[in-house]
Amino acid sequence: MRPTRTGRSPIVSHAKRMEPQLAQIRAARQRREIINQRAILEETTLRHLFHDRVIQIRNKISTAKDLREMMRLVRITLESLGAESSLGVCGYRYSRTTNFMWSATRDKLQGNSRYFPDPAPLNPGEKKHFIETAGERGYPMAPTDILLVDRFNDFKKMSPEDRAQAEADLEADLVRYFGAHYREDFANDLENLREALRYNLYIRWPGFDQYDMVIMANNHVHNAQLVKAGFPPEPLFHDHSIKELFFESLRDLQIPYTSKLREVENGRKAELRLLRGDALHKLQAALDQGQTPQELFEITLGLLPQLFPRTAEESYVERSSVMLFDEDEGRLSIVAARGLRDDIVKNTHLLPGENLAGRVFKTGIPLLVLDAFGERKDVFSDRALPEQLAKGACMSVPILSEGKTYGVLNVRSRRIKAFREEELRFFETVAGILANKMRRLSLQNRDEDTGLYLRKPGVRRVNNMLEKALCEGLKLAFIMIDLDKFKRINDRYGHEAGDKVIAASTRIIMEVARRHKKEFSDHVVIRWGNGEEFVVAVLGTDASQAMALAEEIRLAIQRQSHKFLGPGDFVTASFGISLYPDHGTVLEEIARHADAAVYRSKDGRNRVTFYDPTDRNLRDSTIP
Ligand code: GH3
Ligand code: MG
Ligand code: MG
Repeated sequence: MRPTRTGRSPIVSHAKRMEPQLAQIRAARQRREIINQRAILEETTLRHLFHDRVIQIRNKISTAKDLREMMRLVRITLESLGAESSLGVCGYRYSRTTNFMWSATRDKLQGNSRYFPDPAPLNPGEKKHFIETAGERGYPMAPTDILLVDRFNDFKKMSPEDRAQAEADLEADLVRYFGAHYREDFANDLENLREALRYNLYIRWPGFDQYDMVIMANNHVHNAQLVKAGFPPEPLFHDHSIKELFFESLRDLQIPYTSKLREVENGRKAELRLLRGDALHKLQAALDQGQTPQELFEITLGLLPQLFPRTAEESYVERSSVMLFDEDEGRLSIVAARGLRDDIVKNTHLLPGENLAGRVFKTGIPLLVLDAFGERKDVFSDRALPEQLAKGACMSVPILSEGKTYGVLNVRSRRIKAFREEELRFFETVAGILANKMRRLSLQNRDEDTGLYLRKPGVRRVNNMLEKALCEGLKLAFIMIDLDKFKRINDRYGHEAGDKVIAASTRIIMEVARRHKKEFSDHVVIRWGNGEEFVVAVLGTDASQAMALAEEIRLAIQRQSHKFLGPGDFVTASFGISLYPDHGTVLEEIARHADAAVYRSKDGRNRVTFYDPTDRNLRDSTIP
């Protein structure tokens, strides 16, 4: 059995441990000059004193800059108006439309009061319920909205349900302040322990945006220190005639406090708007550095947490993804993600109209889900992932520019109501910036008529693919294509006809590559030289697969080209293939070897040659 309080003369040991707190207690006692003066003052003089205090406090209120300072001020107000011990205060926000509350901020209650950073439902027995039903228990509520609750007196008047909850709360408080073994440790002081936690003062400030504010103030921390140090606990007011003056003064301060709170809350929003303006500039500048769509996605997802800050260090955004629509497959797939498991990234595909992202893609309308779990039946299909259905908020917005919807941008927070209408608008802007940048990049990178990658962006693209090949241990085939005797075609049919043949050949190459895209991890078709030279780079392949693909393209060009030339005439192409990492590790080397292989194919033309490092006849400068 644990030693009892009397058994080990803990007053001494408590007192020792309590030395710093004792200094605080002494200071608090000195501050309480009102009480001391009260003894020698007449009622009217006391009244004047309170009025002077109110005027001074009113001036002070106008200087507060944020909610934290407001809370400190409220505490100082209460103390200087005659509450008789050091107080702790906590501000709670109560939704006016739903049954939720969450903590705003607090002062001198750290570590001891219950704190709800997330909105949590208000159950019977919770504070709001106490306050809302206080009138039924005989408290003079309207119009003061200031309420001094004597906990034990209140218990007697509560409904059984409220009372059970309130008593459970008291028990939790006792354990929190005095330890799990408080019954044994303070066996002779149990009455004092309860007395220490007797009073709670509530002040309600109605009407901020979507919520009301309730300030709770009490002397529980102070009293716990007293009791542990062997002193008796203090009531909130020694003299109830002061209590009346105190309430009156507080009522005089209701209006200045309310309007200041409103100003502080609006200021918070203005600050957020400013922050977001800065963040958008930052996003614009960062996206200007992006050279490929993939880079744009990574940059955007990388910045998203900063765009939705919760505190200076923490973000509301815990997961995010970019989904793009694949025309061939007719579905959305994840192309970049943060905080998602690899298998989910790989295996998540949505049809237009399916789930949240699918619906956003199909309609182009941005969607906000305040509470994914609560709204799961309205928002998600049967195929929704458990992650999607978990508690929390999410937003999906279309990546849309000039009437073209590329896909959907998604964010997710574990916190319900982390995002609201304002955040949705902002997120829409972010996705718009991304979409514009994607469009410009695509115009910049591709041939306008054919959609082929131009040489320089094409090189960048292949270099990215090579990086991925290295990371994932994949092979990359570099297939170079050169149309045969093209000078002759220009000569015979004219340059314009030549252009058309090139366009038709381009379409054929792209079509065949696209038909096989599922077999590869990635591919790109590039306009490599002037016009009649192409490269198909294929990631995640091997020699025989690359060979087969080249053969299929070769045959398709040969078979179809008679359609766009005179009768009996047709176009052919010569192919050269080199392989990463077998024939080189850098693009320059791989391209040179593919070119050498094309040269080999030109011997006879209309054929495919795989690069052979042992072939001494190859026109390859690395081979002597
Ligand atoms: P081969 O490749 O079979 O050796 O013979 P070739 O006649 O195709 O020779 P080469 O590849 O060296 O020359 C390509 C010619 O194609 C040069 C140029 O007249 C023509 N050409 C290149 N780009 C274009 C283009 O965009 N449009 C047209 N009409 N012709 C082009
Ligand atoms: Mg050529
Ligand atoms: Mg040629």
